[in-house]
Amino acid sequence: MSFESLGLAPALLRALADQGYTEPTPIQAGAIPLVIAGHDLLAAAQTGTGKTAAFALPVIHKLLQGGDTQTRRPRVLVLTPTRELAAQVNENFRDYGKYVRVATTTIFGGVGMGPQINALRRGVDVVIATPGRLIDHMQQRTIDVTGIDTLVLDEADRMLDMGFMPALKRIVNALPKQKRQTLLFSATFAAPIKALAMQFMTDPREVSV
Ligand code: AMP
Repeated sequence: MSFESLGLAPALLRALADQGYTEPTPIQAGAIPLVIAGHDLLAAAQTGTGKTAAFALPVIHKLLQGGDTQTRRPRVLVLTPTRELAAQVNENFRDYGKYVRVATTTIFGGVGMGPQINALRRGVDVVIATPGRLIDHMQQRTIDVTGIDTLVLDEADRMLDMGFMPALKRIVNALPKQKRQTLLFSATFAAPIKALAMQFMTDPREVSV
């Protein structure tokens, strides 16, 4: 199995070669073709399995296919339980997207709103956010979510454990309803995760490693 055979764009393959990755991990091999094909995805994967690239690579690939990156409105929203994870996911997007014009930014609490507002004003394609601070921006109308067509819930089990369910509902309700692709990553497929998937996703495919 190779990254080439997964159908990823040449600019992504170059970035992966720079990273020194020679072949996809099992979660990447399972998830990437399903995401490129447009399916909702329920993925069971622990940290350390390569789960971040399993969503970041096909998400960037699809942004390139859609053309017209760096429009004013964000198109991809990644939700994470903590700011540390948001920062790490952002670094991964930047590493994999180094040869393409895809702009990303992080939104999390504990720091000033100002720089986040400025980054959003300049225009980004991908927003990587923790739920609480994202809601602050939504309330202050400093983020436009009307162009979001891809939602990633990273470490969804931890988000539920941390009590983010009401925040997640609120965020998902504010997103455009039509044609949204939703990708949910979780360490387990416990009942609350299945319930979340039922609520937020359409006919999801499952991958577990
Ligand atoms: P994650 O599960 O996303 O936290 O990734 C765990 C680590 O694996 C990160 O340091 C990645 O840079 C690395 N990684 C991800 N995909 C691959 C791959 N296909 N080959 C080698 N290392 C990888």
